[in-house]
Amino acid sequence: MHTDFRSDTVTKPSKEMKAFMMDAPVGDDVFQEDPTVNQLEQFAADYFGMEAALYCSSGTQTNQIAINVHCRPGDEVICSKDAHIYFYEGGGIAKNSGSSTHLLSGDRGRITAADVLAGIKDPNNPHYPLTTLVSIEDTMNRGGGAIYDFNEIKAIRKICLENKLPLHLDGARLFNALVENNVPPKAYAAQFDSISICLSKGLGAPVGSVLLGKKDFIHRARRARKVMGGGMRQAGIIAAGGLYALQNNIERLREDHKNAQELGTALNNLTWVEKVLPVETNIVVAQLSKTVNLPELIAKCAEKDLHFMAFGEQTIRMVTHLDVNTDNINYAISVLKKIKI
Ligand SMILES: *Cc1c(COP(=O)(O)O)cnc(C)c1O
Repeated sequence: MHTDFRSDTVTKPSKEMKAFMMDAPVGDDVFQEDPTVNQLEQFAADYFGMEAALYCSSGTQTNQIAINVHCRPGDEVICSKDAHIYFYEGGGIAKNSGSSTHLLSGDRGRITAADVLAGIKDPNNPHYPLTTLVSIEDTMNRGGGAIYDFNEIKAIRKICLENKLPLHLDGARLFNALVENNVPPKAYAAQFDSISICLSKGLGAPVGSVLLGKKDFIHRARRARKVMGGGMRQAGIIAAGGLYALQNNIERLREDHKNAQELGTALNNLTWVEKVLPVETNIVVAQLSKTVNLPELIAKCAEKDLHFMAFGEQTIRMVTHLDVNTDNINYAISVLKKIKI
C-alpha cells in the first residue's frame, strides 16, 4: 500500500480542490487584479486579524521576504540553530539580506525569552552587529513538531517590544499548533509583526504560502517579492487551492496528529528504535539503535512502498498528512514490525 511519510508536502489536491481551482476567476496579480489571490489574502488576513497578506510561491520565499524587509546588510537575526530559516533555506539570510544569525539552542528548537534577552547585542557597541529581528518557528520541524508554550511566546514578545525588535513567526505548520493548543488565531497572531503560513503542507494545497503583517510591511514585502522574482500573474488558479485548503482542511489536522501518535507508540515498541521524540503534532522523529543500517532500512521499506526520510545521524522522520489514513498507519506498522535489519 503506497504510504508516503517523507513530508506533509507530498499531498495531492483532491477532486473537490481541483474543481474549485478550475472555476476560480483569475487576473494579473502583479497588477493586484487577480480576484482569487485577493480573496485568499483577505481571508488569511481576516482569519488572523492581521492588516494585510501576500501570497507567495513558497514558505522559503515568505520567510526570506520577511527577513529582507526587517533587516539591512550587517544586521543580525536571533533564531534557533534548528530554525528552517537558518538550516533549510540555502543560506538565504546571508545571501538575500546580507544579514547574519545569532543561533540559540532551546528545547527541541523552542527558544526562550531569557535566551533571546541574553542574545540581544548592545546597539551602542560598534563592535557588534545590530540585532534587528527575532524569529521563532511553531510548530518546530527539527524539534519533531514541538509546539511552543503560548506564555513563552508572550514573554518573547515582551522582550522584543522592550528592545524595539520585530518578531517573525515561521508558521509553516502553525495550524498544527493551533488545533492542539486552542489559542485563538487572532490572539496568537497579535504577538507577531510578521507571520509566514504554508498552504502546501498539511492543508493540502499544491502551491503557496502567505505572509501576514501590517499594511506598510506587506507593501514593502510586495516589492521584495518582485525583486526576488516572485511576482506571479494569473496566480489565482493555484491560490484557489490555498483558499480551499484554509476553508476546509484545518480541523482535520487533528486526525494527522492522532495518526502520528499511533505511529510514535508503535515505533517506541520496536527493539531497534532507541528513542522517539514526544509526538505533539504530525511529525514523528525516532532515533535508531547504532546497529541499524539507515540507508538499508529506508531502501527495504521503500521496496514495500513505505517511504520516510533520514533526519540526521541514526534518525528518521515520519510526517502524517491528509493523504495517509488509518489503513496506511496500520500498513506502516506491520511493515516496520516485520522488517529484518
Ligand atoms: C516547509 C517549511 C518551510 C517552507 O518550505 P517551502 O518548501 O519553501 O514551502 C518553512 N518553514 C518550515 C518550518 C517548514 O517546515
